[in-house]
Amino acid sequence: MILGVIADDFTGATDVASMLVRAGMHTVQVLGVPDGGLPQADAVVIALKTRTVAPDEAVAQSLEALAALRTAGAKQVYFKYCSTFDSTPKGNIGPVTDALMAALGTDFTIACPAFPENGRTVFRGHLFVGDALLSDSGMRHHPLTPMTDANLVRVLQAQTAHAVGLLRHDALDGGVPAVRERITQLRAEGVKIAVADAVSNAHLLTLADACADLPLLTAGSGVALGLPPAYAQRGWFTPNANAATLERLNGPSAVVSGSCSEATNAQVAQWQTAGRTALLIDPLALHEGRQTASTVLAQATAALAQGPVLVYATAAPESVRAVQAALGVQAAGALVEHALAHIAHGLVACGVRRLVVAGGETSGAVVQALGVQQLRIGAPICPGVPWTQAHLPGQGGTVQLALKSGNFGGVDFFAQALRQAGVDL
Ligand code: ADP
Repeated sequence: MILGVIADDFTGATDVASMLVRAGMHTVQVLGVPDGGLPQADAVVIALKTRTVAPDEAVAQSLEALAALRTAGAKQVYFKYCSTFDSTPKGNIGPVTDALMAALGTDFTIACPAFPENGRTVFRGHLFVGDALLSDSGMRHHPLTPMTDANLVRVLQAQTAHAVGLLRHDALDGGVPAVRERITQLRAEGVKIAVADAVSNAHLLTLADACADLPLLTAGSGVALGLPPAYAQRGWFTPNANAATLERLNGPSAVVSGSCSEATNAQVAQWQTAGRTALLIDPLALHEGRQTASTVLAQATAALAQGPVLVYATAAPESVRAVQAALGVQAAGALVEHALAHIAHGLVACGVRRLVVAGGETSGAVVQALGVQQLRIGAPICPGVPWTQAHLPGQGGTVQLALKSGNFGGVDFFAQALRQAGVDL
């Protein structure tokens, strides 16, 4: 193993794995630290769910993941967080970084959430979402990690005992030697974590090359794009043009959607406009027993003979608010996740081999219900969302999953994903 990644959430793990595969690294994602040791691959991504848990818990789980990666021989460790730097003054980016640095015995690392292809750029230490500062973006209203300061040096400094500095864009423009020189200066000044600017993929490639020998990197998924070429240049591996190739599976296909984000609402509407089968899950009807997951599953499996089926709870914000007011936010979420996970499990049991899932939490629930332990990562459908493949010993073998977090993907994402997996649509 060359690279070991510790990701702080599930769809973020798939995102970073997708970047590595795209650049030719054979990559496997595991869900949590497996009991029997890590699989063989150029890169292994351990997906945790530590973004918003208590800092102590995030640190403990991250250290356990680190120990597994070191046992498997990882040359470099990468702590992957969100491209909007989701965290609070308590953490968890700072505390986890500090703990990983201590465990690895290193006194310097970088912090770079930039992902320019998805509109996340860092300039003079300030994070932009599209043309807006992070603090002016929708992230300022996030229920768990409201981001009200775009100055990442200040944001990170509040979370760590280490001195935080800035690796500015002009050093990146100067190429690898200039970045190395700047890092030497920063270290001499006592800086232990440098927030790195990046406004383009060229910056990410330079940064990755200059930092490929550091024991620890901390970043969003963008920096991962530059690592495979940097490793190849060092003779550590040969990029494989087929790293993203998954076998072609036959059999029915389906879409399960529990995301209520704007992008997913548009994708569900587009599927219906195209005249394809769509079955609605109504949380209030479920709650009152007027609808059951089993009856919807039976309808869905009956419809599979005519082509791919969408089962969705996706709804507009007013309707979600009404459901939440009636049932409570947590209870409504859990009710829908449970129903969709049951349906996804039933569809796979009935032979579905290509399944698209929309929603981060929904994906977590589905993957758990299917008993997925590891995912092989295939080709991207859109930036951040690859096809993946899981082996399900109890359920007839292999299934391919596309796990889409809420706001990703174009309006025709569902059909696009299925066509890419060989479905005739
Ligand atoms: P996203 O990636 O868009 O945030 P998630 O799956 O992470 O999507 O979160 C969506 C949450 O909303 C889930 O907990 C899901 O069960 C819940 N949900 C889905 N549909 C409805 C609905 N109609 N009413 C209330 N909650 C819903």
